[in-house]
Amino acid sequence: MATRRRWLFADQLGPHFLDDEARQPVLLVISKGVFRRKVYHRQKAHLVLSALRHRAAELGDRAELVVTERYRDAVQGPVEVCHPTSRAARDLIRSLPDVTMLPPRGYITAPADFVRWADGRPRLLLEDFYRDARRRHGILMDAAEPAGGRWNFDGDNREPPPRGVRALAVPPPPDLFEDDIDGEVRAELDRWEREDGIRFVGRDGPRRFPVTAGEAEARLAHFLEHRLPVFGPHEDAMLRDDPLMAHSLLSASLNLGLLDPLAVVERAEHEYRRGAAPINSVEGFVRQILGWRDYVWHCYWYFGPSFEHRDALHARRRLPAWFADLDPDHVEAACLRDVLTKVRDTGWVHHIQRLMVLGNLALQRDWHPADVADWFARCFVDGYPWVMTPNVIGMSQYADGGRMTTKPYAAGGAYINRMSDYCGGCPFDPKHRAGADACPFTGGYWAFLHRHRDAFAANHRMRQPLALLDRLPDADEVAAIEARRRNF
Ligand SMILES: Cc1cc2nc3c(=O)[nH]c(=O)nc-3n(C[C@H](O)[C@H](O)[C@H](O)COP(=O)(O)OP(=O)(O)OC[C@H]3O[C@@H](n4cnc5c(N)ncnc54)[C@H](O)[C@@H]3O)c2cc1C
Ligand code: SF4
Repeated sequence: MATRRRWLFADQLGPHFLDDEARQPVLLVISKGVFRRKVYHRQKAHLVLSALRHRAAELGDRAELVVTERYRDAVQGPVEVCHPTSRAARDLIRSLPDVTMLPPRGYITAPADFVRWADGRPRLLLEDFYRDARRRHGILMDAAEPAGGRWNFDGDNREPPPRGVRALAVPPPPDLFEDDIDGEVRAELDRWEREDGIRFVGRDGPRRFPVTAGEAEARLAHFLEHRLPVFGPHEDAMLRDDPLMAHSLLSASLNLGLLDPLAVVERAEHEYRRGAAPINSVEGFVRQILGWRDYVWHCYWYFGPSFEHRDALHARRRLPAWFADLDPDHVEAACLRDVLTKVRDTGWVHHIQRLMVLGNLALQRDWHPADVADWFARCFVDGYPWVMTPNVIGMSQYADGGRMTTKPYAAGGAYINRMSDYCGGCPFDPKHRAGADACPFTGGYWAFLHRHRDAFAANHRMRQPLALLDRLPDADEVAAIEARRRNF
């Protein structure tokens, strides 16, 4: 029987997406239509095309790389493909003749195990899923007990940035070097812009993220040695001059399929077992991958297509042009200006900047959740619908009415002030909710609670913030001013 070709999507590029490294022929497809339909960050387009072209070069004669308008023009059966990462791709596969779909790879918990865990629960909380996954996979377990005696070291991992420093004392990952393939990709994208009417957002720049399994492995090894030991304590902190802090910068590599997440987690545990990294940092990191990453992947499928359109708070406002177009020059708020600049220039900022600056702003301003999710998916090098939908619709925008979180991630300027060094250089004052220098996050927070008071009235975790709101003498006035705010 003739061997089926293995079709690899652009997020299935590591060795674990092939069974038979030596023989099975491989099909790789670049669909220009994908880039025509949506405006992606230029550096994201570069990363994806470069990764596909590098994989094709690695596989040599075994691989055919087709550049086409539509996938269906290039995929001729008999072909097999691992379960893709979006509903649109799954529908496409199902519509093609003689294409066999294999189970998903690139995640740790099996779909059936997630469904067994989730069915019948009113709330799917990360903490419950994560503990179950630790037990099921025997990660950071000492027999039946969690390693270090606790499941959760979040309490040790929420420190503000150290005082008086502009950067954490950890070495950044070594720079990556572009090669001829990157040069070809850059020329190709220039041509698409010039001749094909394809548009991008954000600035071009040197490639900052791995495109081969080898580059991703080198970044992982550097992280395990230099950054994992200090990953935990300042996980939630922000420093203007330290864009990376102790984060791993592995999301783009994991999401391109260059790294196997179970192997990453096991190697992090190994660092703990050999005494090279403390439990709070290792647990914090394992929680991100075995916990959060797998959890959002499964939530994407489990909640079904309607989840993408959830809008529990009836947030309907459009994204302002300066935000949609990554144009920080119109922004005065120091935190927002810096984060938006970094997105424009690199297509990446770390978790707390996404959640507590960008997501917090969108939530407070009633921006339409599906538009916000789409913006994140297009503007970030690691953005994909499966990861964006739960993170944005569920976690950051509370548009699911609280199926994934117990309360909305809304916070005023006091939080940003405590967790960053932004406010010192800002024309606004985080303590002021009214007046000429009122912080847009502080005023925005109280206005958000004021507007959605009824939606949160029955939530016991919102009782205290609503009680504080009731004691504000100027709540109506703050809400009215914030509704008119144009200066950010
Ligand atoms: C509004 C919002 C949008 C986000 N969009 C994306 C996205 O498009 N793609 C993406 O991979 N992550 C996304 N995240 C999750 C997280 O912010 C990024 O994974 C992380 O910042 C990537 O940087 P890092 O690799 O240095 O992560 P680290 O802080 O070093 O964490 C290690 C790894 O854990 C995983 N991880 C941690 N948190 C999450 C999470 N909530 N969801 C999924 N994986 C997680 C990532 O693979 C990451 O590489 C988003 C979070 C929020 C709040
Ligand atoms: S004062 Fe407000 S807007 Fe300015 S940096 Fe602080 S939180 Fe951001």
